[in-house]
Amino acid sequence: MEQGAEDVPVVYLHEIKRRYTQGETTLTILDGAKLALWAGQSVALVAPSGAGKSTLLHIAGLLESPDDGEVYIGGAPTSGLSDMERTQIRRTDIGFVYQSHRLLPEFSALENVMLPQMIRGLKRSETVKRASEILAYLGLGDRIRHRPAELSGGEQQRVAIARAVANAPRALLADEPTGNLDPHTADHVFQALMQLVRATGVAVLIATHNMELAGRMDRRVSLVDGQVVELD
Ligand code: ADP
Ligand code: MG
Repeated sequence: MEQGAEDVPVVYLHEIKRRYTQGETTLTILDGAKLALWAGQSVALVAPSGAGKSTLLHIAGLLESPDDGEVYIGGAPTSGLSDMERTQIRRTDIGFVYQSHRLLPEFSALENVMLPQMIRGLKRSETVKRASEILAYLGLGDRIRHRPAELSGGEQQRVAIARAVANAPRALLADEPTGNLDPHTADHVFQALMQLVRATGVAVLIATHNMELAGRMDRRVSLVDGQVVELD
């Protein structure tokens, strides 16, 4: 780790505002939201449907821009960056996991995890090695040649997690990653996620409705009237 890097949040959302206008009505979804994500810390985002969890995650992941406020990645503001610079940060510093796996159906588990690394320009042999290691670490060593359709829901999500961390991001953002899974499988996928957090020191924000899983994370926050509030 760079010297002093542990003093700066991996992701810092400062006074984030986000409004959606549809016809005559404007909905204020985020209204001055503030949140710091730290290396090695897992944060659960627990809030009702429609509260703005996905919006917050997309803004933190530079997939969407706020109307006001600033997203700092590793202490550096991102609002002035070009699209290319933002894309570059997304590729190298941020991993994103969705509720549905969003794997490419024509490619094997291995190839799905290799792709982000190849896009970054790593040698094919290196990407094979690293993708195999991550998949084995997540208990999928004997499934690497399977296509998504040949995997169970839990296995698909573990491949999606492997893909998200393929480039060793500093932050891992997950939007209800176990929302489509039965409780037993959700528990398994969650354990895999937490194991990765401990092993890599990545900063983690997971939107979830599962209070039991949220209770096992380091910290819990919610969204109330567009602001982040600490729970507990
Ligand atoms: P959550 O993930 O907590 O369920 P979202 O962040 O998806 O909430 O959405 C929060 C609110 O913002 C919802 O009321 C939703 O309808 C609205 N919203 C989200 N995205 C858009 C959009 N692109 N255009 C208009 N309204 C949106
Ligand atoms: Mg959502």
